[in-house]
Amino acid sequence: MLTITCHLLDCASHIPSPHHNQRPNPSDISLLVIHNISLPPGEFGGPYIEQFFQGELTSTAHPYFDEIREMKVSAHCLIKRDGAVVQFVPFDQRAWHAGVSSFEGRDQCNDYSIGIELEGTDDLPYTDLQYQRLAEVAKSIQHHYPAITASRITGHSDIAPGRKTDPGRSFNWKAFRALIR
Ligand SMILES: [Zn+2]
Repeated sequence: MLTITCHLLDCASHIPSPHHNQRPNPSDISLLVIHNISLPPGEFGGPYIEQFFQGELTSTAHPYFDEIREMKVSAHCLIKRDGAVVQFVPFDQRAWHAGVSSFEGRDQCNDYSIGIELEGTDDLPYTDLQYQRLAEVAKSIQHHYPAITASRITGHSDIAPGRKTDPGRSFNWKAFRALIR
């Protein structure tokens, strides 16, 4: 079990993102949303996701960066291809990952959810290290925030259908759910 102290994962690197604010009710943390991201799209291992969530994506390394550099988004955590975890926002704060969204009829999922990004794409398989780490992180989060039951772990595409596709068909929900059972 990974330790969570003051709403931070002890196992993670901590890179604060300015893209967050207060939750309307910090004691209502009751949903876990799984995403993917890669920058540039389909490329792994660069420093760009961290820069993007910090609002410091100034590189001209790829034309796509021009389209997104003004976006103010974040997630609580990122799990990289090697299983390394970066935390950008403490869990009791509201990260900006879900956008227009709804879970079981309740809108504004950012208000009450934790967002975890996997470094990946909708089509390329995630790594075993990512599944293992995600399962460890998810179990610790569930232990610390017991309102996040197994049925309240969902994908971005499930809370923003038609608008978002991540974590994509490459994410093996069956294998992941077996790991956290
Ligand atoms: Zn997403």
